[in-house]
Amino acid sequence: MVIDGGGVNDETRPEDGADVGERVVVPYLHTRGINRVDVLVLTHPHGDHVGGLLSVLREEPVGTVMDGTVLPYPTPAYQAFLAGVKSRHLSYTHACRGMHLDLGDGVSADVLNPPASGTPYGVNPDNSTVNNYSVVLRLTYGRTHFLLMGDAEAAAEQTLLDSGSDLSADVLKAGHHGAANASSEAFLARVRPRYAAISCGRHNHFGHPSPATLARLAANAIQTFRTDQNGAVTFLSDGQTVKAEPFMP
Ligand SMILES: [Zn+2]
Repeated sequence: MVIDGGGVNDETRPEDGADVGERVVVPYLHTRGINRVDVLVLTHPHGDHVGGLLSVLREEPVGTVMDGTVLPYPTPAYQAFLAGVKSRHLSYTHACRGMHLDLGDGVSADVLNPPASGTPYGVNPDNSTVNNYSVVLRLTYGRTHFLLMGDAEAAAEQTLLDSGSDLSADVLKAGHHGAANASSEAFLARVRPRYAAISCGRHNHFGHPSPATLARLAANAIQTFRTDQNGAVTFLSDGQTVKAEPFMP
């Protein structure tokens, strides 16, 4: 399963965005000996998530595509993604709460967001609304769990809290690049992760991650890794415990 592919933000100049799928995602899969993607997930259609998936679609055999996009989103990158799915006649499903995926070898994934029906976060496709419709996945392997938030913010976190779902996880992939409007105190109290991972660019213009979020994570004694400082962060589970391996300690 590949979840999002990085890329450049929609409003970034294209020349800043040498194809991260071509340069990073596909080569990484190959170095791990992965030459087939069973499930390709797009959490939401923003350019910094969909961009790198275009090369994956082009170059890898893909089993099925799961897309969390709820609102119409007419950007070139997302439209190119949809066109790529269509031209390859791939199986395509809209991800929503209640879906359960058996990934084999005892690994499974539950989709917790976006909700199965309705538009609880609104219908105006501003950044925050689109973020809140992100696919949220809880992976399970043995006794270990990973909660992968996409760019979900506090509104989606509140929906998850209200849903009564088991949110506990060893690893939290923090929502929205560690922004202040995600990883709320109440949410961290329910997830109670041992580790958090924040995906963010070095010297990014958005101020990710927010000092307030880092302080909340620290106050909850959650060991936090950041891709801008640690590079690639690998988490290994044997079904009992999880070990973190940052590329740069
Ligand atoms: Zn993003």
